[in-house]
Amino acid sequence: MNVYILTLFPEMFSPVVNTSIVKRAQEQDLVRITTVDLRDFAHDAHKTVDDYPYGGGPGMVLKPEPVFEAVDWVRQDLGREPFVVLLTPQGQTLSSGLAKELAQKPDLVLIAGHYEGFDERIRCLAHMELSIGDYVLTGGELAAMVVLDASIRFIPGVLGDSESALQDSFSDGLLEGPQYTRPAEYRGLKVPEILLTGRHQDISRWRRKESIRRTLLRRPDLLKVADLTFEDRCLLEQVINEEKANKARGDNRGCNQTN
Ligand code: SAM
Repeated sequence: MNVYILTLFPEMFSPVVNTSIVKRAQEQDLVRITTVDLRDFAHDAHKTVDDYPYGGGPGMVLKPEPVFEAVDWVRQDLGREPFVVLLTPQGQTLSSGLAKELAQKPDLVLIAGHYEGFDERIRCLAHMELSIGDYVLTGGELAAMVVLDASIRFIPGVLGDSESALQDSFSDGLLEGPQYTRPAEYRGLKVPEILLTGRHQDISRWRRKESIRRTLLRRPDLLKVADLTFEDRCLLEQVINEEKANKARGDNRGCNQTN
């Protein structure tokens, strides 16, 4: 996958693209990341990329020319048309499903805005407008990093254990259940006995049930649209009954309760 990030601050990306899983993915040629400095496409000696908004108003606006010309440069570099994503708080909100969709694009361009915003004509370049949440950042760089990171983990081979992206929260519409590692007991907090038994089928059923429980307690909205099997529905019913009983007992499942 080729990812081009169009930005006024390419230096912000180096810690992210040169660390951990993103770095390894590049070393393994699973992804090629190119940061493109929009100032290289400015038309004057001062490398001006922003200007005052027509009609007045606060702040400066990213000019259209550097962005259009940077996308032209990417097209030439690739020799084909990339999928262009514009980062904006006004776009669709990023989800696991959208990240997975982007991971299937062979060539992706992420445009990070800055200042008060960008000239409206820049929207014409985008196949998709993406937001990372209902808040406003000072620039699209952090948003581009989030989109890049969330997407490339779906490229086969990027994660060490190819199964782990599939087990993460949201991938099957549910939150992931609790995880434990050694020691089996720490400061009186015990790992659930079932996980120590080595009975794989029982463990897998327990994990599914706890994933359903966690989703019920934290994100019941997800359960309404999740694709649940008959067995999942039985587990959900059990969890609902157990939670009702817990509530009746005044049990709020604190940290000392490990099920
Ligand atoms: N005036 C714009 C508005 O109200 O929609 C916000 C501009 S913001 C200060 C500057 C740039 O940061 C945006 O052009 C966009 O690229 C990026 N940005 C800010 N918040 C974002 C978000 N939640 N998701 C994605 N990009 C964001």
